[in-house]
Amino acid sequence: MISEHVDVLVIGAGPSGAVAASILHQKGVKVKVIEREHFPRFVIGESLIPRCMDHFDEAGFIEAVEAKRFEKKFGARFLRGEDVCWFDFSQKFSPGWDWTWQLPRAEFDQTLTDTLQHRGVDIAFGTTVENVVFAGTDSLTTVRDEQGNRKEIHARYLIDASGYGRVLPRLLDLDKPSTFAPMAATFVHVHDLRRPIGIEGTRITFDVLEQRIWFWVIPFSDGRTSLGLVCPKEHLEAINQGDNSKTFQRIIQQSDYYRQRFDGLDFLFEPKQIVSYAKAVKKLYGNGFALTGNSAEFLDPVFSSGVCFATESGALAANLAAKQLAGGQVDWEHEYEEHMLWGVNVFRSYIRDWYSGDLQKFFFHKEVNEDVRRKVCSVLAGYVWDKENPFVKKHDRAVKAVTHLLP
Ligand code: FAD
Repeated sequence: MISEHVDVLVIGAGPSGAVAASILHQKGVKVKVIEREHFPRFVIGESLIPRCMDHFDEAGFIEAVEAKRFEKKFGARFLRGEDVCWFDFSQKFSPGWDWTWQLPRAEFDQTLTDTLQHRGVDIAFGTTVENVVFAGTDSLTTVRDEQGNRKEIHARYLIDASGYGRVLPRLLDLDKPSTFAPMAATFVHVHDLRRPIGIEGTRITFDVLEQRIWFWVIPFSDGRTSLGLVCPKEHLEAINQGDNSKTFQRIIQQSDYYRQRFDGLDFLFEPKQIVSYAKAVKKLYGNGFALTGNSAEFLDPVFSSGVCFATESGALAANLAAKQLAGGQVDWEHEYEEHMLWGVNVFRSYIRDWYSGDLQKFFFHKEVNEDVRRKVCSVLAGYVWDKENPFVKKHDRAVKAVTHLLP
């Protein structure tokens, strides 16, 4: 079997793997990426949050993405019947980026990988990781191409950014059940033929249909719009008509705000469904490897934190791996796992408080304290490591403490 030697092997070329590979390449580390699909490929996760921009900046991707003229996202709107709540990222408490993008991931992910290849990073598309064997921190990874040819790659460090492929969690028995009740989502793209002119047409919106059921509208700059429903698993089972398109047409009827705009539009593909999407692992790292992005933890789409965790973990794992390979000491428990879990747990609290109704009570209350709003806005922008923000530091009880004071 052919053998190849690299410093770091990255599994998966989504945002997590792309950011990791770019940072490693910039540091002069010999990196190779293995990607099962050919890009562009569809993946969900189209609403970014500003914290991602720090990682794209560090990875040197901003200019290439800007050139694609994706729709810029300056905040997030939440609706519930007549109630409206708009978070403007420029009004957030923490310093940092106050805008980001809402974009079709197929084109976005390909922009990142095109940029990497242009810079000389080796990406093997159409190649699947089948097995990994560790010897200390070194690993031997078996990959197979589409012709069935197998090859072994020797790496000094391995970053598993394989998303729902979850290569190492499966091989090393690292999966553990999520603490969230099983949720489901169904989503589709349409040509937004009745899109209103101006900001109303491009505003990203989360329309609350019931306390645990919400509908997303994510307009793209090319005239397409992404629509999706998130709900308890049993709800999707109950409304499923055996035909995903019919089910989705009925879902559109449930949104008073958007019914007219999207009624009867052709779907650009059959609506997709994902059930029980929350994932968790027992450990985020091990001897010679780190799990990043969705290969590690995924909570819920409601605050668009998925890509942010993917890039935060990809960037951090790359920086720590480079330090270790250069002979530095890395405390993976403290520097990687504790850091990542802090951010995950902040969002976990807000997602819990969203579905319990507490956060919705705060969002849609008529007289919201502006200081509190700025601090919550920072969390929604992804600045969940800023412990100067009491709504980060005391994430577990901050929302409840505020909502209990509301009439
Ligand atoms: P991915 O982008 O999934 O990339 C992983 C790559 O690994 C893939 O290209 C795959 O082909 C490759 N791969 C897998 N197995 C192998 C293998 N064996 N060998 C080689 N390659 C392999 N996040 C947001 O930020 N905003 C949102 O609005 C949002 N909405 C969501 C809605 C829903 C319904 C769900 C379920 C998730 C949503 N997310 C959202 C989360 C988002 O999809 C993920 O967090 C994000 O895509 C993770 O990026 P990644 O780089 O870790 O993985």
